Amino acid sequence: MTVLVLGGAGYIGSHAVDRLVEKGYDVAVVDNLVTGHRAAVNPKARFYQGDVRDQDFLNDVFDKEDIEGVIHFAAFSVVPESMKKPLKYFDNNTAGMVSLLEVMNKHNVKRIVFSSTAATYGEPKQIPIKETDPQVPTNPYGESKLMMEKIMKWSDEAYGIKFVALRYFNVAGAKPDGSIGEDHHPETHLVPIILEVAAGERKELSIFGDDYPTKDGTNVRDYVHVVDLADAHILALEYLKAGHDSNAFNLGSSTGFSNKEMLEAARKVTGKEIPAKMAPRRAGDPSTLIAASDKARDVLNWQPQYDNVEDIIRTAWNWKQSHPEGYADRGANA
Ligand code: NAD
Ligand code: UDP
Repeated sequence: MTVLVLGGAGYIGSHAVDRLVEKGYDVAVVDNLVTGHRAAVNPKARFYQGDVRDQDFLNDVFDKEDIEGVIHFAAFSVVPESMKKPLKYFDNNTAGMVSLLEVMNKHNVKRIVFSSTAATYGEPKQIPIKETDPQVPTNPYGESKLMMEKIMKWSDEAYGIKFVALRYFNVAGAKPDGSIGEDHHPETHLVPIILEVAAGERKELSIFGDDYPTKDGTNVRDYVHVVDLADAHILALEYLKAGHDSNAFNLGSSTGFSNKEMLEAARKVTGKEIPAKMAPRRAGDPSTLIAASDKARDVLNWQPQYDNVEDIIRTAWNWKQSHPEGYADRGANA
């Protein structure tokens, strides 16, 4: 039987496809390449180019493939853009989920592992954040993902489609051999931006805010390696295959690093100066986000291999150095 990965040409999805193939799963990928890259998809996976919201297309894929479960990464995820264009996010993310669940139900596919996010919590009431804490998003992106979680809950009630929502904290790094990695246009995430400065592609890093109530005034985040994250999806799929009920898990390291600490770690790993300046706060940034992720460790038996940020940055730097231009299809998707 086949695992269908939606959004499998994207940054995280391509690493999940790669790990699935490495572990011997039969894999099919659906992606419209709006932000993804065909070259990122492991050649052993079958590839279908199309949109999750296109039910005719999706029905066709489900007719062709014998699907045991889906892993759903396909979404837009740039917070500032979602503030300006909320309907774009509710259309692609939330309506995309409705389309997918309708097709899954029609084809009697009853398992879905879903990319959720720390952004569903909004400004945390306590640190570390537990799965049971209130989910009050502060931007349309987080709201679109929370709606997707709720839609899955009611689809479970009505149709018995079981789900695992994986709420990622800050994802970074790349496959250690440097063959796949992060290639977004424009790039908005801290680690790849720091490495663009290290590579001389950007003049300097702007650190957004140094007056937060944290150890050095800059935001604190919880970084998880993309390969560890990919493995959690496989564990979640097996958890559903074992007959367990729907559930939600945080995926993080339970350790926080400030933006200044990340810059210092990158200077150490790359040996580059990495010029940086302080800049005003970025709208909507919570001061500190750290996951309580013992639930994923206890229930899914998730055992992350990359437990320090220098290792995470080192793998991202390895990808950056071996692919200074990113994937070859850069122009097509920008
Ligand atoms: P990405 O943009 O690299 O990957 C998303 C993939 O989905 C792309 O290949 C894109 O082409 C595809 N896609 C988007 N809309 C589609 C549609 N309608 N039909 C078919 N394909 C479509 O993003 P990423 O960083 O790999 O993130 C993957 C998922 O993880 C997203 O759902 C995101 O919300 C979630 N997430 C990411 C982070 C992070 O730090 N990167 C953190 C929390 C959650
Ligand atoms: N950040 C920064 N400069 C940048 C990009 C990001 O200072 O050019 C900060 C951002 O304000 C946040 C942290 O880095 O405090 C992580 O941001 P990112 O966008 O990578 O992830 P988020 O935490 O928003 O999901």
